[in-house]
Formats: sequence, structure tokens, C-alpha cells
Amino acid sequence: MRATRGTWADEVGKREDALIALRRDFHRHPELSFSEQRTAGIVAERLQAAGLEVRTGLARTGVVGVLRGDKPGRTIAWRADIDALPVTELLDAPFTSGTAGVMHACGHDGHTAIAITLAEILAARRAELPGTAVFIFQPAEELLGGAKPMIEAGVLENPRVDEIYGLHLTTQISAGKVMVRPGPNMASGDGFAVEITGRGGHGAYPHLSIDPMTAAAHILIGMQSLVSKEVAAQETVVLSVGQLEAGTKNNIVPDKAVMRGTLRTFNLDVREQLLGRLQSFVSDMARAYRAEARMDLTMGCPPVVNPERETAFVHRCALDELGEDAVDAGRPVMASDDMTHFLRERPGCYFRVGIAPGHGRPAPHHAPEFEMNEAGLAVGLRLGLSVLRSRLGA
Ligand SMILES: [Zn+2]
Ligand SMILES: [Zn+2]
Repeated sequence: MRATRGTWADEVGKREDALIALRRDFHRHPELSFSEQRTAGIVAERLQAAGLEVRTGLARTGVVGVLRGDKPGRTIAWRADIDALPVTELLDAPFTSGTAGVMHACGHDGHTAIAITLAEILAARRAELPGTAVFIFQPAEELLGGAKPMIEAGVLENPRVDEIYGLHLTTQISAGKVMVRPGPNMASGDGFAVEITGRGGHGAYPHLSIDPMTAAAHILIGMQSLVSKEVAAQETVVLSVGQLEAGTKNNIVPDKAVMRGTLRTFNLDVREQLLGRLQSFVSDMARAYRAEARMDLTMGCPPVVNPERETAFVHRCALDELGEDAVDAGRPVMASDDMTHFLRERPGCYFRVGIAPGHGRPAPHHAPEFEMNEAGLAVGLRLGLSVLRSRLGA
């Protein structure tokens, strides 16, 4: 038993440099959501070379690789997201983004490299493998738009997946540590756009116009009171407006104002309550200022909730593989992830792996200064391998 464990561990050790090189290659060539052609091409090529059955072009740029072990068993999936963001990288390194205005600022380059390497390790030891491993490379996580079409394309069927696992690298924890948490982990994320229509005119005579800006300002402030006055204090909710557009000149009352924002929570009932309430609040509030308002919702995704049983499996793997000091339940985060769509279809666990740089305060994900401590990659690989092996029974 010991000897077998040793050889599996060797697989990680001997691939660590290649794993970092692969991540750097993806980092140098980032691609936006649904445009991940080069990335998907490399994924497909590597999986094919490793002997997996590969399907490409799923949900436009998604890839799936199926690895059938030589012994019968269960089917366990691993999910990675492959897209980058419209951010201009500030980091100066030989592998800094070579594509203007596009950057892997969320760590999905690392997710992709880890998932490929996991598939290659398991493929190299296929003879010892009971069951089937399915590797899902989904596009467009940053739009919360890649998971659903992958599921619709049938990636959880043929072979029918029993459980699904995956990880997100995070600068919130130091390299070498992981967070494995049952229950709510990441918030729901829904978008809204409010269009307020007034009547344009001269800034000197606002009484002859209907000012959509004043209505917008009151709506923006008022929406915050929905959170504090209509939701129970025990619940966690964030409502942020990130865009407000109106007007062309300082002394013209515009005829229109548009604001766009995001709503996040861990509770599906609260989500429904607020999304419903916002609609009437916005139009009633606009009417108070003689304007009209319409709200359009972009339903993003529900919260990521890890089931107890599968999370306990991952927790056990993390303790065995990394030791007690490296494992923490952490706290839920208000970020969203469309991994939730997979976890609503199948049991599994989405866990977090630390990549905080050893110096200074880490830049948040999506920031142009985002930096990955690559020592975390091998930790993610080790834990991922341990999870897949133990769930497959290898
Ligand atoms: Zn992101
Ligand atoms: Zn991400």
C-alpha cells in the first residue's frame, strides 16, 4: 500500500515543473469567454495524446475527455474553467499576457493546467484505475455562462457521471493551504439593469423636464434599504451598482439614465424575494419623481453549496495528503461561480486552494496586479489526484 502511494506521489513530483510551464503558457495566451480556441486546442491535443476519448466544440469552446480505467467502477468528473478576463496585466514577467487587454486574472490558467495534468497522471496509470474519470473543461465561467450549455450538451451523461469535483485557486489563502467547506461556499450572482426614462431639457429649467438622474440617485440609495429593512438581519446580501450612465453635458437634463448592478446572497428564498421586490420598488420610486423605470434581470447562478457527504470525503483527502495545519473550512465568499450548475445536477465538492504570494498584501482576483504563487499549483494537483483516486477507488 505504501509503495503504491509512493509511486502516485512521484507522479506529482516529476510533473511539477511542467505544470508550472503549462500554466505560464496559458497565462501568456489568455482568451476571453467563448473565444478560448487556442486553449481548447491544447487541452484537446494533450488529452488525445494521453489516450482519452475527447469531444470538442461543446458550448462553443468546451472540451471533455473521458478516461476509462481498465477495471469497472464508478464515474467521477473533474471540472475546470478555461477563460480569461478583459483586464490589462500590470505584472512584469516573461509570461505576462501577450494579448492586449486580456489577462488570466482569476487563476483559470492554473485550473486548466492542473486538470490536464490530472488527466495525464491517471491515464499513465490506467491499468490500476477502476471506473471512469471525466474531465470537463468549460468555457465562459467569467460570464457565469459556460456550465449550463456544457450540461445541456450532455457532459454529465454517456458515461453518466456519479459525482463531480473541482477547485478554485485563491489569493485569499497562502500557498500550501486549502479550504474545504460544507454548505454555502459562494454566493448567488444575478445582474440587473434599470432604465429610467424622463424628459430632457435645459438644466436651468428642471421644472420643465423630468429628471431621470434624480430618480436614479434615489433608486440607487433606496435599493440599499431593501437589503437592510426587508431582509432578516441574519442573512447575507450584497447589492452593488457598478455602472451608472446618463447625460452628455453639465447643463442638459438627459432623458434617460441607466444603471447596472449585481445582487448576491446564499439563500435562494432571499434571492427570489429581492429579485421580485426590486422590480416594483424601482418602478414605484421612479414614479415618485414623475419618471418611468424598467428593470431587466440577468439571472446568473444560484449559490455554490457543497453537500456534506462529498465534502467530508474531500476533507479527509486533504487531511491525509496535506496535514491538519493546511486545511481550514474558511468562510463563504460573495463571489459567484457557475460550478453551482454542475453541483445542482450531481453531488460533489468545490474547494479552494491557496496561491497568495509570499510578499505583501495579495491583489484580489480580477485586478490587473493579480499574481499567483505557483507553489499552490502542485498542492491543487496533489489534492485533486487524491480526491479522484479515492472516489474511483484506485
Ligand atoms: Zn473570476
Ligand atoms: Zn474564477
